[in-house]
Amino acid sequence: MEIVLNLMIVFFAFWAMEFVAWFSHKYIMHGFLWILHEDHHNQPKGFLQKNDAFFLIFAIPSMFSFILGALLNIIPLISVGAGILLYGIAYFLMHEILVHKRYKTLYNLLFKNSKSRYLKALLKAHYAHHKHLTKDGGESFGMLIFHPKYLKLAKEK
Ligand SMILES: [Zn+2]
Ligand SMILES: [Zn+2]
Repeated sequence: MEIVLNLMIVFFAFWAMEFVAWFSHKYIMHGFLWILHEDHHNQPKGFLQKNDAFFLIFAIPSMFSFILGALLNIIPLISVGAGILLYGIAYFLMHEILVHKRYKTLYNLLFKNSKSRYLKALLKAHYAHHKHLTKDGGESFGMLIFHPKYLKLAKEK
């Protein structure tokens, strides 16, 4: 039973992170931390962006859960850490590899020949987000969950 419970915690933590990512993107990154997110909307020249700082920021709660869970022997806390970590990996694969193609080799390996309508829709949703170059307005602040209209758009083409 304990394994089922912990898998549920991993699952819940994973999807809770989609909410956290949506919320912080909409209200923090497009809010008072726009200064760190701006270069992601305005095509920086170098490989690293200030926006990458968010990866470090989001890694902290995961690390914290792993370390504390291990020290205090609280398995559910380790499951929370695992859920956050898995979300980080999923976000990285979708945003850095699929959408922005920052690692060409990985892109070719994983996504080049994909016929997935979900992935096509995810691309469209995030491109719609990037059409906005300023802090205000905007759409599609989430990553894995987006407006169903993009699924329709992905089918049309
Ligand atoms: Zn943004
Ligand atoms: Zn982006």
